[in-house]
Amino acid sequence: MSNVTVCARFRPLNSKEKQNDNSSVCIRSRDTETFIFKDEKDEESVFSFDRVFYEQSEQADVYQFLALPMVRDVVDGYNGTIITYGQTGAGKTYSMEGPGILECSEQKKGLLPRVVEGLFDSLNSSDEKKTYSIKLSMVEIYMEKVRDLFDLSKVNIQIKESKSRGIFLPGVTEINVLDPVEALQNLSKGIANRTVGETQMNMASSRSHCIYILTIQQEFSRDKRTRFGKLILVDLAGSEKVEKTGAEGRVLDEAKTINKSLSALGNVINSLTCGLQGKTSHIPYRDSKLPRILQDALGGNARTALLCCCSPSAFNASETLSTLRFGARAKHIKASPRMNYSEEKSDTSSSTASPPDDDSSARVL
Ligand code: ADP
Ligand code: MG
Repeated sequence: MSNVTVCARFRPLNSKEKQNDNSSVCIRSRDTETFIFKDEKDEESVFSFDRVFYEQSEQADVYQFLALPMVRDVVDGYNGTIITYGQTGAGKTYSMEGPGILECSEQKKGLLPRVVEGLFDSLNSSDEKKTYSIKLSMVEIYMEKVRDLFDLSKVNIQIKESKSRGIFLPGVTEINVLDPVEALQNLSKGIANRTVGETQMNMASSRSHCIYILTIQQEFSRDKRTRFGKLILVDLAGSEKVEKTGAEGRVLDEAKTINKSLSALGNVINSLTCGLQGKTSHIPYRDSKLPRILQDALGGNARTALLCCCSPSAFNASETLSTLRFGARAKHIKASPRMNYSEEKSDTSSSTASPPDDDSSARVL
């Protein structure tokens, strides 16, 4: 199986869509991997993904197919990234968080709480003697600035890269958590901070990319080797073309910035696809903060899962088509994951949870 998993998810029609045009829909399901899409001119095309989740699909189905294998890989020392993409209202946050990450029925829980629980389960169930730690960071990219959602005073965090740590965010808050409850309580504070920040900046959550970073470190008693794994979850800003709606001023600036960052992500994906076809090309990770933060997660030492969230309504067909095309393009990425191990046996007297920061090779975006 490819190291990039691309899935499409169609949420149920909402009440507004049910009123539009007699609830007509733009998709016809074929099977779990294929469906027929009807565009605005009633022309049909077939789309195939690794899995298609239709409106009746459960949150648990999405987790099991898309995230559970990645949870296991991250515990085995790989990096992984789960991205939700799509227009505002398509179900990105519902898929990622569920209706709320703390008070939510088991059935409706989103990927984030399930991933957190899955990571602890997997770490606790292994037979090998070890100590481990899980650290959380949570940031938001708004207008090309990275903001710390655990500390709103940190409003412009840099993105650096070093040989030992890969991509990292110097100074970002990292919270050590000991169990799923503590993890979810902290993440829920980050989510609440996001709303506070939005009010301060007078923006909507759909205008920023929200990034959850979970870093797992395991130290094995047998040979004192340290293994690192990083799992990043990304709830992207809405992909809709706001320019077409005649927006002005700040709203237009936001839209341009979002389009630029999503197309930079798309260009990175395209360049990786060219690499797959034997053409050597420059991968433009640095064109925007979004692909730069995800650099480790796209094409390199990583496994990637993209969930393309869509409305099934004919009314939204053109945005849905653009989301499906983005997903189809991503399917061509070729990645060669490798495990993250410290090169030397770790110093047992050190209490540092992070791999050492090799500042000499650190660069700012
Ligand atoms: P986005 O984050 O893409 O802007 P949301 O996740 O906030 O969109 O979803 C918009 C609305 O649709 C929310 O009220 C959400 O509860 C609902 N919704 C989205 N996906 C589903 C789903 N699969 N099942 C039921 N309701 C959903
Ligand atoms: Mg959302």
